[in-house]
Amino acid sequence: MQKQVRAWLEDGKVDVFLAYKMDCGHPLPHAFTRERIDETEDLVTGPARYSLEKFATQIAARHPEKKIGLLARDCTQRALNVLAVWNQLPAEQVEPLPVNCCPSALKSHADCTYLEAPATGDVKIQRGQDPRQSLEAVDAQEGPERFARWMYEFQKCIKCYGCRNICPVCFCKDCSLEHPDLIGTGNLPPDIPIFHLVRAVHMAGRCIDCGLCEDACPAEIPLRLLYGKVNAIVKDLFDYDTGASDALSPFSILGDKPTLTPAPLLAVSQE
Ligand code: SF4
Ligand code: SF4
Ligand code: SF4
Repeated sequence: MQKQVRAWLEDGKVDVFLAYKMDCGHPLPHAFTRERIDETEDLVTGPARYSLEKFATQIAARHPEKKIGLLARDCTQRALNVLAVWNQLPAEQVEPLPVNCCPSALKSHADCTYLEAPATGDVKIQRGQDPRQSLEAVDAQEGPERFARWMYEFQKCIKCYGCRNICPVCFCKDCSLEHPDLIGTGNLPPDIPIFHLVRAVHMAGRCIDCGLCEDACPAEIPLRLLYGKVNAIVKDLFDYDTGASDALSPFSILGDKPTLTPAPLLAVSQE
């Protein structure tokens, strides 16, 4: 990997490469460049997980002429698809270098079960399982029980914005979560359930299920499950697999073609 990145930089295939660098014993996100090419000797692929795509989006916005390489786990590729769909990061500006996301060679590629989430109440959620399976466990609860469970989860929130800040597909300049007309300021916990439902709705057709928000959440709220539910609805309604391709999202207003088939107009009698 170090040799590959060095060659990409030396050959001019990329101008900058985003990966991790050991710093005082810790793997930290780092931008490797031709000017400091010897730093590639300290390049590591993990076990840290940061939203490298988020850094790439920022670099691309400021330097549209730069070619950006980055380590790409499966979820990174899904994020790149979503960012291209939403006009945040042109696909032609990015050169992903696939990397096995599992720290153990014994585990297969894209097996994320080592990222075991904490148990929450009666529902145990384990990463790497089919998200529909976990959703089914929650869906099996009666409505009032499910409502009480989520309200319990939400009231743990300390409004640190970690979930939004780490998310590779949260890119808005003005975030609704800080809009005083939507979310009361100075409240802890934040207004519930609106704070979390606003973000959940925004993740429809966007969340690529990387789990970074859940990792970042100090209150251990099962956010991945919440957004998984939202995207299961998107899948059911629009047959859209978020991040699976660069096909336009049903909610994207950008692009060359209409993104939603308008609902048929109701027949109105002229009489
Ligand atoms: S899992 Fe969380 S951090 Fe990852 S894309 Fe979805 S909302 Fe964003
Ligand atoms: S929470 Fe919503 S408004 Fe805020 S950055 Fe994410 S998508 Fe944008
Ligand atoms: S990371 Fe967790 S505690 Fe922080 S704002 Fe998000 S949901 Fe709330």
